[in-house]
Amino acid sequence: MIFTKKRVKRILIYIGCIFTFSVCSKKLKPVEEVLGEFENTLILISIDGFRWDYLSFANTPNLDEFLKEGVQSKGIIPPFPSKTFPSHITLVTGRHPEEHGIVSNKMYDSFFNEYYYIGQNSKPVLEEKWYEAEPIWVTAEKQNKKAMTMFWPASEARIMGIRPSEYFVYDESISNSQRVNQILKWLDYPEEKRGKFFSLYFSDIDTEGHYYGPNSNEVNSSIEKIDETIGQLIAGLKSRGIYNSINLIITTDHGMASTSKDSVIFIDDYIEMEDVEIVDWGPACAILPKVDVKDIYSKLLGAHPKLDVYMKGNLPKDLHYNNHRRIQPIIAIAHEHWSIADKKSFNSNPDRYSGGNHGYYSSYESMRGIFLARGPGFKMGYQGPGFSSIHLYELMCYLLKIDPVDNSGHLDSTRIYLTAE
Ligand code: AMP
Ligand code: ZN
Ligand code: ZN
Repeated sequence: MIFTKKRVKRILIYIGCIFTFSVCSKKLKPVEEVLGEFENTLILISIDGFRWDYLSFANTPNLDEFLKEGVQSKGIIPPFPSKTFPSHITLVTGRHPEEHGIVSNKMYDSFFNEYYYIGQNSKPVLEEKWYEAEPIWVTAEKQNKKAMTMFWPASEARIMGIRPSEYFVYDESISNSQRVNQILKWLDYPEEKRGKFFSLYFSDIDTEGHYYGPNSNEVNSSIEKIDETIGQLIAGLKSRGIYNSINLIITTDHGMASTSKDSVIFIDDYIEMEDVEIVDWGPACAILPKVDVKDIYSKLLGAHPKLDVYMKGNLPKDLHYNNHRRIQPIIAIAHEHWSIADKKSFNSNPDRYSGGNHGYYSSYESMRGIFLARGPGFKMGYQGPGFSSIHLYELMCYLLKIDPVDNSGHLDSTRIYLTAE
């Protein structure tokens, strides 16, 4: 065959057409197919220490838009103690801390004769033996729906023999923007490899809240930065045409109460420090006496008007905090805004006691966190009452269309936020 100029041009046009057709037919899927693929997908976001009323203080255009099209509750009520690990694990298991075993951020287990602690490079966080309830990502994986976690307390551990299909060991140096990009990358996976449950976690607002207190400029600017991060996620979902197909929950583990170095209960005014081990300073202070328990208890009981003292087994029933070997023999609980310390630790850095804290009784409004949600499962522009975080597991199982395992929550407690079936 003779390749004249005209003939070469025609062949090139023909190849071009075939190429264009094959690319377009791959990219331009019918809309229904895209929706179907992402049906029952859930992104669960925790913004640590985002108090329920923070939104009214800062400039948050992205969260405001999210809200207009979704639902908001008058807060989510954490379990007791309102601390990061007990609360996050309640959120994903529907179990109280005494049921899931993570009764505090710092614990001593007399049977293991070992300590549990959190933070960067924590070893116990990775150990399966500490966790006694099934998180949502395990329930999902067991029912052939993949889970992918861009941080969530304990998501890096094997639990009930199972880990999320993809996960990361906690590393604070991964920026918020990188975390969002990871979620978007996972959403770009082909359907058979893609997850149905995703988690995201941000710690900045909690950190600023501890240092500067809940009503500070530092917390406000941190809220505004997180708003931009959420904006980045929303833009990524919109550009993929999937923003309206996915359910998103934005929530948190607890709120934040202001503290002051003038509101400190000095425990060594009442007991000898050599007589006890303080396993966790609190504000729900976990005390392991080295001498007679009753002796320490009677010295602390009624010692300070802002301190409630309980022997294990006698804490109020609604706290659900009596029945685990990791709960210490005496629990001393400071009232809102108060701290517990010994004079030596206080004097080494008094300013550390002015700022913010959580871990108090969950019934204080200051301990409530945000709950916002949007997507095909949720009503539009609806605001409703606060509810306990124990109910989130059931709600998430419903959205993911998976069967929950036994738990202490109820779907009826959040049904008011859902679109009718
Ligand atoms: P809290 O003061 O109770 O709110 O604890 C917040 C801290 O928990 C964060 O600043 C982190 O250091 C720590 N944290 C959060 N997620 C994890 C994780 N997956 N592994 C270890 N530590 C974590
Ligand atoms: Zn927290
Ligand atoms: Zn905190």
